[in-house]
Amino acid sequence: MRVPLIAGNWKMNKTPQEAIQLINELKGLIQNTAAEVAVCPTFVALSDVLKAVEGSSLKVGAQNMYHQDKGAFTGEISPVFLKAMNIEYVILGHSERRQYFGETNEEINKKLAAAFTHNIKPILCVGETLEQREQGITFEVIKEQVQKCLANMHQFDLEELVVAYEPVWAIGTGRTATKEDANEVIAFIRQQLKEVLNEKLSLNIRILYGGSVKSSNIRELMDMPEIDGALVGGASLDVQEFAKIACY
Ligand code: PEP
Repeated sequence: MRVPLIAGNWKMNKTPQEAIQLINELKGLIQNTAAEVAVCPTFVALSDVLKAVEGSSLKVGAQNMYHQDKGAFTGEISPVFLKAMNIEYVILGHSERRQYFGETNEEINKKLAAAFTHNIKPILCVGETLEQREQGITFEVIKEQVQKCLANMHQFDLEELVVAYEPVWAIGTGRTATKEDANEVIAFIRQQLKEVLNEKLSLNIRILYGGSVKSSNIRELMDMPEIDGALVGGASLDVQEFAKIACY
């Protein structure tokens, strides 16, 4: 059974002090959720957030990492460091990293391999731009992203992979994909997972929707058969709103 996952991507927001405050409030608000709930703060807040979640069911993820373990890579963060801190999840291939930092499917593939090597659960983001959707090439783009990012992964235990379908045109814009569109693309991603990996994995891997998720639309999204949770950006910065999403 796929346990729903609601993950908050805080992006470049919240000082360590603000992060602690949010977690302390959030813990009391999500006690009755059936979902697994995770927060992904900035690197500098990870340590404080890990301490703040102690004794709760909240999970902690990073927003990125490099694929090498160590070395002369100024400014990068190693999977070894994240594992040493007991970070459970890492978001990889977010569209903002693809768009502003030039991350390619090939680089994301290396990062995924590094995450699996170090037993950090990756949340792999895929999604088409508005231009690509208007050109009618959504499925080609998603297929290429899934196939390239997940190439040569057979030596790893991929049960812990999470995929997030995040149409770029819906991120931070207030435009949400319709529940039918999101469900259709996620079903297509599951089909791709079956082809690239195998049927069992395709049925067990959780696929989230992300893009302007709010408390007002989470229920209808979660009611769709293929949608296993949400990756929440802007709305995860407001503790009341995120708690409502997590307790959909
Ligand atoms: C995201 O950045 O992963 C995201 C889905 O953002 P938002 O919810 O703000 O659209």
